[in-house]
Amino acid sequence: NQAPVITIDGPSGAGKGTVSQLVAEKLGWHLLDSGALYRLLALAASHHGIQSDDVEALKVLAEHLDIQFQQSEEGKVEIILEGEVVTQAIRTEIVGNQASKLAAIPDVREGLLLRQRAFAHTPGLVADGRDMGTVVFPEASIKVFLTASPEERAQRRLLQLEQKGEVVDYQELVKSIKERDERDANRPIAPLVPAAGAVVIDSTDMAIEQVVEVVLAEAAKAS
Ligand code: C5P
Repeated sequence: NQAPVITIDGPSGAGKGTVSQLVAEKLGWHLLDSGALYRLLALAASHHGIQSDDVEALKVLAEHLDIQFQQSEEGKVEIILEGEVVTQAIRTEIVGNQASKLAAIPDVREGLLLRQRAFAHTPGLVADGRDMGTVVFPEASIKVFLTASPEERAQRRLLQLEQKGEVVDYQELVKSIKERDERDANRPIAPLVPAAGAVVIDSTDMAIEQVVEVVLAEAAKAS
C-alpha cells in the first residue's frame, strides 16, 4: 500500500483524537481512530455476551466486526455498529476500560490488524492510537508520539465528560488514567512506547492548534 501515513500515538487524553482530526482535515486525508475499533469491539462483545476470556470468540468478532463510519451532513462522523448508532455509547469510561482490557489480548490485536491497515488509501491516512507507528504502520512517513501529564489529561477528560453530562471525580480520574497508562505501557504486546524515529510532543502546556501546526510542519518537511 503506497498511501502516505501519519501516525499519532500516545496515551488517552493527550489530544490525539482532536489533533488527528484537524490534521486529516487540513491535508484532506482519511482518518483512522483505532481506539474506536477497540471500543466497538468491547461494546459488541458485551452485546453478544462474549466474556473477556473467550479469546477465540473475541478474535472472530474482531475480524468480522460490522462497523460503518458515516459522514453526516454537518461533516460529523457517525459510528455505526451492527446497524446501530453508537457514536456516543462507545465514549464512556466503562467501555474505554473494557476496550483497554481486550486490547491486552494478542489475538484481539491480531484480529484488528488487517482491518486497520485497510484504512490506508490515497491521498493519505492519519492514524491515531497506541501502536500505529510501532506495529500497524511501521512504514509511516511521519510518526508522532503525543503526550501530556496525567493531571492535565484528567482535567481535559473531566471537561469532556462533564459536557456529556457524566459526573466523575477528578482524583478518581487521575487514578484511572494512571492505571490505564500502566496497563497500556507494560503489556507484553504492542506496549505504548514511542516508535523509533517518532517526533515526541508534550502537549501539557500547548494549545491544540499549536500541536497541529507542529505535525503539519513535520508533514511538510517529509513531502
Ligand atoms: O484511544 P481510546 O481511549 O479510544 O482507546 C481505548 C483503549 O483501546 C485504550 O485504552 C487502549 O488500551 C486500546 N487501544 C490500543 N491500541 C490502539 C488504540 C487503542 O490498545 N491502537
